[in-house]
Amino acid sequence: MYSLGVNFDLTYITAGIVDKSGTILLKESIPTLKYRKFDEIVKDMAHLCIRIVNKAGLNIDKDIEFIGIGCYGSIDSRTGVMIYSSYFGFRNAPIAEEMKKYVNIPVVCENDANCYALAESRIGATKGLKNTIIVTIGTAISGGIIIENNIYHGLAYGAGEFGHHVIIFGGEKCECGRNGCWAAYASTNALVRDSRIMAIRHPESMLFKMVNGDIRLMSFRTPFEAAQKGDVHAKELVDAYTKYVALGLINIVNILQPEAIAIGGKIRKIGQEFINNVDKKVTEKTFGQYDDDKKTRILMCDLDYDAVIIGATMLRH
Ligand SMILES: [Zn+2]
Repeated sequence: MYSLGVNFDLTYITAGIVDKSGTILLKESIPTLKYRKFDEIVKDMAHLCIRIVNKAGLNIDKDIEFIGIGCYGSIDSRTGVMIYSSYFGFRNAPIAEEMKKYVNIPVVCENDANCYALAESRIGATKGLKNTIIVTIGTAISGGIIIENNIYHGLAYGAGEFGHHVIIFGGEKCECGRNGCWAAYASTNALVRDSRIMAIRHPESMLFKMVNGDIRLMSFRTPFEAAQKGDVHAKELVDAYTKYVALGLINIVNILQPEAIAIGGKIRKIGQEFINNVDKKVTEKTFGQYDDDKKTRILMCDLDYDAVIIGATMLRH
């Protein structure tokens, strides 16, 4: 028996057939085309699921136990309704119910970062620990909270939105409409913004030269690469960015004291050294963690975004 996991993201919908060990046998993606009507998107999602099951030579009714969908937004996981997603513009969208028009097997839905956290806690970096958090850092910052091996949802299924806790009152504008959110400083988008400003101010810098003077080409990796080559301005950026990432994590540790926080998302591409530097700063500032064996560990997630697909197939076990 297999399960189908779906990553319902803003740009792509990816479906994968997953076995009991969390291995993806086959996966395929289609563009989300998010400005379409909700029912058109779900119809394409259902067809994608049916297509890959057929392609794998399986029978959806006999070989697939259920479909788990990891969605970008707040999801009522009991009913499969997307309560709210500012990026899709959906409000109370009944995803599971709509999917059931096309398939006869159970459909469950969950927030994508929660799926990620579940997969990491079962087969990834936080495996074997009961109380853990994952924080995904990319163009935005999200996360999932696992308490006693279960996803913590919060009152309105919106828990774990770490990116929107304010670290600087009246600070940079955030996509959520507020100012000074952690995501406005520690997301990869924020790093790109700050790197562009730095490059313009210092046209003599390696940062500026690495993008051939075209700041549109700036990526979140550029300051790390320039810092490695000795560029002082890039070093300043990387140092500030590391502090911002650590600052948010310190707040999380001080509030929840999980056994571990694993960092996932696009930032994984920067590598373990960055995580080690963040860990060092977190350790210096967290409150009341004086013994090494009772210290929240800062780890790198083992899994990439496929963790959403894998975690979605763990929702019923
Ligand atoms: Zn925000």
